[in-house]
Amino acid sequence: MQIAEDSAAPDGTRYFQFLGTGAGDANFGTPDSADLPVKDIRRYTCNVLSPDVLIDFNHQTPEALDLFGVNRGVIKHLFVSHGHFDHFQPLEILRFAESLPQPLMVYGNTMVRDALDFCGQNTFDQKSGRFVERQGVPEIEVTVLSPGTAVEAGDATVTALLGNHFMNKPYAIMEQQALNFLAEVRGKTIFYGLDSSYMLPATLRMLSGAHLDIAILDATFGPLDIDPLKSGHLNWGMLDETITELREIGCIDDRTVIVADHLSTNNVEPYHDVAGKLAAKGITLAYDGLKLAL
Ligand SMILES: [Zn+2]
Ligand SMILES: [Zn+2]
Repeated sequence: MQIAEDSAAPDGTRYFQFLGTGAGDANFGTPDSADLPVKDIRRYTCNVLSPDVLIDFNHQTPEALDLFGVNRGVIKHLFVSHGHFDHFQPLEILRFAESLPQPLMVYGNTMVRDALDFCGQNTFDQKSGRFVERQGVPEIEVTVLSPGTAVEAGDATVTALLGNHFMNKPYAIMEQQALNFLAEVRGKTIFYGLDSSYMLPATLRMLSGAHLDIAILDATFGPLDIDPLKSGHLNWGMLDETITELREIGCIDDRTVIVADHLSTNNVEPYHDVAGKLAAKGITLAYDGLKLAL
């Protein structure tokens, strides 16, 4: 295996690290989580592709960067998968960008661009109950990505793919383009499949033939029985089906590190009850701080 789960990667080694592995009901900081084992305490979604790329950003991200020893001063790129609050918080992104010595390049859908533009120009004044003009120029540059678009971020090439998420399926309304990402860096290929239900045909077609070294897949609901018509996520059974599909088109083989991520506090079993069973199927259960050397 070329990529090892290695929480003690030597300095200078490139890595992908999970800083937040919870879903919208993440328990970090709640009274209920205080006495739980550390691998059962999850933040909202954020990941780092070292040294300078983040994927998704929320109010828990800056503290997580410090806790897990990420040098936040060198961060240059932020990919936003979609506009749910556990992945995207524009005010927090602007605040973080102001703290950096260089401008932050942000990549996302049109809503992400519009929300960052709006927050760059307006701020809500509690006293008057009105939006007022914001002072200062935001230190960010936003690039809109549509499915199929590829950009260079440092030495990584990142291609946006359409996720099956943020859809009102009974009415066939795609409320927002949720992006998944295919990142290629130094000959290694990483698929970031958050958030998503079953993979869309066009996305499978675009992935076809690409060998994945790391596949990060949505496993939000764990053992819960869910209706794919009403959910934008996967459970354990749907995860197995998705892995089978990816095997069939040559993306996943026995060398691929498959990570089950975006885990619901209220539904996924405790880490120690389920991680071993998943490992027997070749699946790594994510936890905050999990680091994969590249
Ligand atoms: Zn989410
Ligand atoms: Zn979402």
